[in-house]
Parts: sequence; C-alpha cells; structure tokens
Amino acid sequence: MQNRQSNHVFNFDKFPNFEKDIDLKQRAWIEVKVKAIETNVRQLRSKLSKNCQFMAVVKADGYGHDAKLVSEYAIKGGASQLGVATLNEGIKLRSCGVKKPILILGNLYTKKDLIISFKNNLMPTISSIRECLICNNIGNHFGLKFPLHLKVDTGMSRLGFEYNKFVRQYEKIKFFDNISIEGIFSHLSSADELNSLDPKSNTQLQRQKFEELLKQINVDSNKNIKIHLANSAGMLLDKSFHFHMVRVGLSMYGYKPMLNLSTNLKLKPALSLKVKVAFIRTIDKGVSVSYGGKFVSHRKTKLAVLSIGYADGVPRNLSNKISVIHNNKFYPQVGSITMDQMMVDITDSNEIKVGSTMVLLGSDGDKTISPIDWARESNTIPWEILCSFKNRLPKVQVD
Ligand SMILES: *Cc1c(COP(=O)(O)O)cnc(C)c1O
Repeated sequence: MQNRQSNHVFNFDKFPNFEKDIDLKQRAWIEVKVKAIETNVRQLRSKLSKNCQFMAVVKADGYGHDAKLVSEYAIKGGASQLGVATLNEGIKLRSCGVKKPILILGNLYTKKDLIISFKNNLMPTISSIRECLICNNIGNHFGLKFPLHLKVDTGMSRLGFEYNKFVRQYEKIKFFDNISIEGIFSHLSSADELNSLDPKSNTQLQRQKFEELLKQINVDSNKNIKIHLANSAGMLLDKSFHFHMVRVGLSMYGYKPMLNLSTNLKLKPALSLKVKVAFIRTIDKGVSVSYGGKFVSHRKTKLAVLSIGYADGVPRNLSNKISVIHNNKFYPQVGSITMDQMMVDITDSNEIKVGSTMVLLGSDGDKTISPIDWARESNTIPWEILCSFKNRLPKVQVD
C-alpha cells in the first residue's frame, strides 16, 4: 500500500469538486435572521414621525451580519439611506446593486479617494473647508454638483468642523457652486449613559449646542438639507433627537443600547453563533483542561470539544465564563479558549454527540445568550463583540 504523501497519482474522479461541497455548517457559523432585521427596522421606524428618515448603519460588514444582506432587509423594512465607515464598504454595496443613498461616516481627505467616492455615488462626510474645496473642484471638473454631508463636532472630538468656527465657515461653503450639501450632522458621545435624560447631561448639552448652531445658520430655510444627530441610543431617548433622519446600528440588529431603557419595542436579535461538536472525551477527576491548566476537573468529566476559538472572534478572556446551549440546557465552557477550539463540560448530557450543534449566541428553547452577556463578562460593549467575528465564520441566511 502506497502512502498518500508519495508522488503516486491517485484517481479522485469519484469525488468531483468535493471541496466545493463543504457544508457551510461544517464547523462554526453565523446565522442571520434576515426577517428580524426587517421587523426591527419597521418597529423602530414606528417611533419616528412620518417625515423622519431611517439610515441603516451597515459598517463593519453590517456589525458582523453581512452588510449586503442587512442592507437588503433594512430597505425592505423602510430604511431609506445606508451608512458605512469606509470607501471600500460603500463600493462593495454599490457593486451588489444597492441603489439607496450611502453616506461614508469615516473621513476621506485625498483628491483620489474623493473622486472614487463621487464616481461610485457615495456621499463623503466633510469636516473641513479644505475637503470641501477638493469636492467643489471635482464637481467643477465634471460639471456636476458633488453631494456630501457636513459634520460638526459638538462634543465627541472626533470628526467634524470645529464648533466655534462652523457658522463662519458655512457662510463661505454655502456659496460653493459645485457641491450639494445633502446633510448637516453631528454625533453623540454618551447617549447610552444612564443620565442622558438629565437636562445637564453631555447628551442634552450636545443636542442644545447642535440646535443653537442650526439656528445660527438658519438651515430651516433650506428644506433639502437633512439634519441628523441620533445613533440608536439617541433615537430611543427622545423625539427631540430625531430631526430629519436617525442613523441606527445596534438596535436594528436587535439589541438595546442601554439596559435601563424602558420601551415597548420587541427588538429581535438577528444573529446566532453556532458550532459543531468535533470530539468527545471523558477525563478523570483532577485532570487539567487546555492551555495553562486554568480548569481542573472536580469529578469524572465528559468534555465536548467545539470547533471555534479566538481566531473566529470569541474573546479569549471569556474563558471559563460562558456557557453554550444544547436542547434548551446550558453547558459551561471550561479551560482556556484556544485559537481554534474550546471545551465544554457535558457530563450531564447523554444526548450530545460528535456532530451535534451547540449555540454560543442566540436562542435555543427558552434559553438565550446575548452579545450583551458576553460584553459584560469580557468588560467591553456589544458593538465590539458583534464586529469581532472573523471571515472564517461563514454567514448563513435563515428565514
Ligand atoms: C456607528 C455609527 C452610528 C450607529 O451607532 P449605533 O449606536 O450602533 O446605533 C451612527 N452614527 C455614526 C457617525 C456612527 O459612526
């Protein structure tokens, strides 16, 4: 018998294109309930007045859900604009055939990038006169108006025109012939904090500053300019944050941005993270599990080895802190999470087999594990959990 490693040529004709048939659910995967996106958008929109538009924020590959899928179903739910972070994210959506207006929320500052943005019908966020002039020159060169949004800093100290200089600069910008100011916006720094409804909070202060500025530039006289300020938290706080449009990410994916929020919304998480059991072993009492022996069995223990690890985006600092669900029961994860695998104590189960599916995030029966739980345990925020998932995890559309 020859060894497979030798140079002997085998005949694999029996298995044509075998590799193409690898099941998306062979190892670990993300399931996206697209209908949940649609109904979340519809519900959220019901909180807006009729003329207020909904921008679906689909940056970071739709918060890990697949930007193309999310865009499609957010639009079905009534989103009329899309928000991305980068030029490439915008180009990708256009190449998928998305027709709605797309705003790039990050900064473009070279002529080349702004030309690409213009060519692909993507609106840049503009934070300076210099960028405005480049856009005006590009518009002029093509004999067209370059559509863009102006951003003002009201307390985030990230992007945006300097607050105290904006009114003076706007007086010049508004006479630029080859740009079309489609929007003026700002961004809240602390809307998800407990005190946001307190009149002295940063959030209320930002809103007041923004309104003050709009009064000074007398923007109401130009109804075509969309005014927007709110992210998910801002939108859910109060109508006074809505203006002409809201830019919603997190809550469209089914999560409340602040836990104390009392609303009658029934947001539905769109994402589930699932994994196959790749191996099962039984260890004696007193045996250590995984790198560093951070878990030692206190009884004879049956372990399931799951095919998912931190290289898939499960934070390593969740080791020994999370559970997974199978058939409406929780099972604790034990030992350090490794790059490609993690272990789960399934001593109490007779039904879990090699090839069984377990749920890391999402629901099974009446049990649920949310990215909010993971965020609390790993000392971060659900936004970071959602956009940590790597390309190695296939995304599977359900319903
Ligand atoms: C990401 C982002 C949003 C969406 O924030 P959520 O809290 O996820 O709703 C809105 N506006 C800007 C400028 C953003 O960068």
